[in-house]
Amino acid sequence: MLPSMEALFGELTRRFGPKRCLTQPESLLAYECDGFTIHRQRPLAVVLPEDTEEVVAAVRLLHAHRVAFLPRGAGTGLSGGATPTEPLVILDTARMKRVLRVDPEERIATVQPGVVNLDLTRHVRAHGLHYAPDPSSQSVCTIGGNLAENSGGPHCFKYGMTTDHVLGAKVVLPDGTLVELGGPAGARPCGGLDLTGLFCGSEGTFGIATEITVRLSPDPESTVTLLASFRSMRDACGACSDIVAAGLVPAALEILDKATIGAIEASVYRAGYPADAAAVLLVELDGPAAATEADAEEVLMLCRSRDAIAIETAHSPEDRLRLWKGRKGAFGAMGRLSTDLYVLDGVVPRTRLIDTLETITAIGAKYRVTLTNVFHAGDGNLHPNIAYDGRDAEETQRVVAAGMEILRTCVAAGGSITGEHGIGSEKLDHVALMFTAEDLEVMERVRSVFNPDGRCNPGKVLPTRNSCAEVGRWPEMVARVLDPGGPSP
Ligand SMILES: Cc1cc2nc3c(=O)[nH]c(=O)nc-3n(C[C@H](O)[C@H](O)[C@H](O)COP(=O)(O)OP(=O)(O)OC[C@H]3O[C@@H](n4cnc5c(N)ncnc54)[C@H](O)[C@@H]3O)c2cc1C
Repeated sequence: MLPSMEALFGELTRRFGPKRCLTQPESLLAYECDGFTIHRQRPLAVVLPEDTEEVVAAVRLLHAHRVAFLPRGAGTGLSGGATPTEPLVILDTARMKRVLRVDPEERIATVQPGVVNLDLTRHVRAHGLHYAPDPSSQSVCTIGGNLAENSGGPHCFKYGMTTDHVLGAKVVLPDGTLVELGGPAGARPCGGLDLTGLFCGSEGTFGIATEITVRLSPDPESTVTLLASFRSMRDACGACSDIVAAGLVPAALEILDKATIGAIEASVYRAGYPADAAAVLLVELDGPAAATEADAEEVLMLCRSRDAIAIETAHSPEDRLRLWKGRKGAFGAMGRLSTDLYVLDGVVPRTRLIDTLETITAIGAKYRVTLTNVFHAGDGNLHPNIAYDGRDAEETQRVVAAGMEILRTCVAAGGSITGEHGIGSEKLDHVALMFTAEDLEVMERVRSVFNPDGRCNPGKVLPTRNSCAEVGRWPEMVARVLDPGGPSP
């Protein structure tokens, strides 16, 4: 270990104690990747602060020693956001789990970043309130991670993504300076620039949020959940488009394919989905009772006109929970298919869903990979999942190549390379499919305002401008990605 590192670890251990400053290799093993397991690198150390003041102290020390770091929530990210790309220290928010303030009248809460998404809803349930953004990982993932990824979830079709629910945050910048973005009144009423909006989705590269103020939503008067099963994916996608075209705004519109249904029904997430269906469409309607009943009738009619094989309507909380258990447990159920799972995250216009899914199936066959699909159909947000054995290097290569081609297909269909999982380290080679060198230059300039030395979560979101080797090489990189067959720069 370099003498300067030894001095840093000595100072961190003195400040945080050995239980909150981990340096032993066996303690660091769990931090070598997030939910994107293709990239792995163990950090130098992990520090577990408990409040803003401790985050400031840790970041100041790291800044003084010129050592890179990254913030980490629950590590459920699916694009490598919380995985080191170079030797660095992780600041884990696992001990920052306090709900600091709830104001039921104003419908806001201020929380520490390590508060688990679902725990916030549990905390405010007695007030008839909930926190609307609901990633399928909501029983584990943190509000800090959600803010950094601008996370979505099944109910974001109606209620919007994380950015629509975050009003402000206390943020420790990469040099240890503490700033307050936005506030309880929201960013815009405070005047100035909407820095909260800018921070949201910055994937841990702008600093560490230590207190986050969010909007709470009133529980709907009534909720109806329907599960329609279809003979073909085309019919399921058609029913989804018909529902939106009819002017209905369901809280959620989710589709699962046959292979996913099979994996769920064989797992602990069994939900009673019909085994003979080629696809199921899960529709949730909420609002005033009279409106949801009328909307449910219309959804039934639209699904029947697409030849639905069966439609189950759940009114009781138990039946609704059962239907959602399958959807929310879908990624977990994939564990039955192989040891590893690559969860892709592309977006296409809703009208292009079925064509794109057919192309994706062909790509799966071309690369001989095991593909399943479960997705936020209302948003056109696809999640093709590839089950594979990460110990097999040749299979892993095929998986990565198939992933690249799938995201290329999404962009070609007028969509994008991510709907909610972010770029992280996973998609650095994909950003040039969407952005020009000029676009990237502007983004880099914005990031350098927050993170001028590039030591906060290096190697993420934007191609490695700060790692020297690629400085000024974006035009070549964009050309290489757009024309992979062309000469390498
Ligand atoms: C089974 C499963 C289902 C999922 N379903 C969804 C879904 O429906 N919708 C969706 O959007 N995502 C989903 N995800 C992805 C993931 O859960 C989200 O991206 C989530 O927001 C990550 O939260 P986390 O606490 O695990 O963050 P981490 O993975 O620990 O970190 C994610 C990023 O946030 C940064 N970060 C963490 N805390 C802070 C902080 N306090 N300040 C600044 N930056 C910070 C990290 O540096 C990293 O870049 C799913 C993942 C899994 C495994």
